[in-house]
Amino acid sequence: MPFVKKAAGPAGRDHGRKEKTAVQLSPVRRIDRVAVQERICAMTFDDGPCRLPASPDHFRGRPLTQVLAEILERYGARGTFNVVGDTSGGYPDKLGKPGSPFWNGAACDHFPAFRQDDQGGAVHCPELISRLLAGGHEIASHSYTHLMFGRTSLLYSSRKCQPSLEAVVADLRRLHKTLEDGWGYPLRLSRPPRCVDVIKNGFTSYDAFALMGYQYLAASFDGAGCLPQSNYQAEVEAAWRPMERLLLEDPDAFRGQIITQQDGFNMACRTPVADGLENQLRLLTDHGYKVVTVSELLERAPFRDVMAESREGRAARRLLRLGWCVAFQDNTLRPDTVLTRGELAMMAFGWETVRRRIEMVRSGRAPFRDMGPRDPYAAAAARAMETGAMSAVNGRFRPEDPVSPAEAAQFCAVRLGRTPPLGTWDHITHGEFFTLIAELLEK
Ligand SMILES: [Zn+2]
Repeated sequence: MPFVKKAAGPAGRDHGRKEKTAVQLSPVRRIDRVAVQERICAMTFDDGPCRLPASPDHFRGRPLTQVLAEILERYGARGTFNVVGDTSGGYPDKLGKPGSPFWNGAACDHFPAFRQDDQGGAVHCPELISRLLAGGHEIASHSYTHLMFGRTSLLYSSRKCQPSLEAVVADLRRLHKTLEDGWGYPLRLSRPPRCVDVIKNGFTSYDAFALMGYQYLAASFDGAGCLPQSNYQAEVEAAWRPMERLLLEDPDAFRGQIITQQDGFNMACRTPVADGLENQLRLLTDHGYKVVTVSELLERAPFRDVMAESREGRAARRLLRLGWCVAFQDNTLRPDTVLTRGELAMMAFGWETVRRRIEMVRSGRAPFRDMGPRDPYAAAAARAMETGAMSAVNGRFRPEDPVSPAEAAQFCAVRLGRTPPLGTWDHITHGEFFTLIAELLEK
């Protein structure tokens, strides 16, 4: 399993600290692939739904989204469709250079194509949303307007983007409400437009998704649906040849992977996915894979680095279901990492302090002398102290310090109403802590 990373080396504590600066525990986990024993994987389709036919059309004029659904169903596969709401609000606009990232609009994206916004999106194509749901496929949020969440790199500097975190959340809410009102369907996963994470004032897509209660839908394998090649045949080949090569090297390579594709046109206004998907599914099926929705994949295997059936995996999953933030932002558990006080606070109080964290960043007021307002665990630490589950001395929380046996006992007594046996350790790892809590909960 090349994707299973051990987080902490022999120098556990130092290593744990170093890792923490790169990635933190987070209510929103970035899901790109998961650790799973079986041959299962998922496929996502962006930017639809699309009522226009495939281009070139080998499917007698049927809407592209319907064509994709039918192909998937023939193989017993279920897709995850990242839909938009309506892109017609982005005019006046003009066409960018064909074959460039601005092929469908210079200032905004227009789906399925420039001046044809009424042929795409959940608002204009409710029949396609109904068709997807009837086929057992999953719908995820790709935002209502597909405006980028914030301004990024030079390439996109001339594009329109959302002006604030509020605007991003309002846009996500609009699509959420569309699916809820129209189909009683609760969206749970989201991928930011053009995968841009920055939001004005130092926020990120993780903040927006936390406010929505979403998980971050990323991907681990590019189904090559976006970039144009010299001709259509080359584009279709690009959709499945790399997959074939990888499976020849290692038939297990796609276990737990999330493959991305387009439910729409590529930059050259063609839809190689319509002819490439069948080959992909045949390859995967021949190798014993089942293609499931991302939610089903997560149901079977929630984490990136630890199997759900392992002792630590079982314990962590139990806590996850109770609303604990057990995983890091990259969806790893890093069970060998030493548990710090900041992490302990975040695990238990991360979800309930999502809004408070954002208010803290805005106000610039620090809750502790050693935790700034932008510290990712500051709000959770403040809450942990208020509940009596944790303590601070002289206005210092000591977020980087390892959790002591006495601190673990205090935390468990207050948060769970049960006290673990006081050990004599000088630190406890994340994995040891999960199993300790799971044992306590069983008593
Ligand atoms: Zn997109």
